[in-house]
Amino acid sequence: MTDNKLNTAGYEIPEELQHSLSITTLDRLYNWGRRSSIWPMMFGLACCAIEMIAAQAARYDLARFGMEVMRPSPRQSDLMIVAGTVTKKMIPSIVRLYNQMPEPKYVVAMGACASGGGPFKEGYNVVAGVDKFVPEDVYIPGCPPTPQALTAGLIRLQQKIDRQSIRRVRWYQKGADSVEIPVPVLGPDLMEPRRYAEIKRLAAEQQSATPAGSGETSAEA
Ligand code: SF4
Repeated sequence: MTDNKLNTAGYEIPEELQHSLSITTLDRLYNWGRRSSIWPMMFGLACCAIEMIAAQAARYDLARFGMEVMRPSPRQSDLMIVAGTVTKKMIPSIVRLYNQMPEPKYVVAMGACASGGGPFKEGYNVVAGVDKFVPEDVYIPGCPPTPQALTAGLIRLQQKIDRQSIRRVRWYQKGADSVEIPVPVLGPDLMEPRRYAEIKRLAAEQQSATPAGSGETSAEA
């Protein structure tokens, strides 16, 4: 958002008042403050993280967008950039970190792996997209996306923030101010607590479909 836009009230301002005072809306001011000071969390998962690091260095310089302060703690972060392959071993930690971030918080899936599994989509150990567990705001294609692509994705995120309204954002609604996502459990395979009922139902259906004494064992729930 340019300063010009920030100062646009959305209605006619009398000539004599122009250039002597700024009139804007609360939404514009609120969004301008947030979109200009997004602090990303400092962590990377695989090769895409190298491009993220390059984007933070002097040549691309995310300080231009107020995003240079990468925080080592989720408690101080507004933005989670999921940069790299999301494995089943890592997703419980990623969900835990997401839950520990205060609102308002945003998530960017950087690269093919984070967006949908990428070249490892069918791998036994890979989650086919981090959005299976954590809500995403922006997806950045590429393997890996260049620092310019990451910058373009972050500008998209800023545009998304610009369209939010203080009256409708979820963290100012009544009730819990943040949605806690159940942390997946890594056992023989990844178990998603939100799907326990579905898994139990499928296991029961499978068991009832197995003829008694057939010697077949049903899948573990
Ligand atoms: S998208 Fe490509 S570069 Fe990025 S983590 Fe996956 S394999 Fe590596």
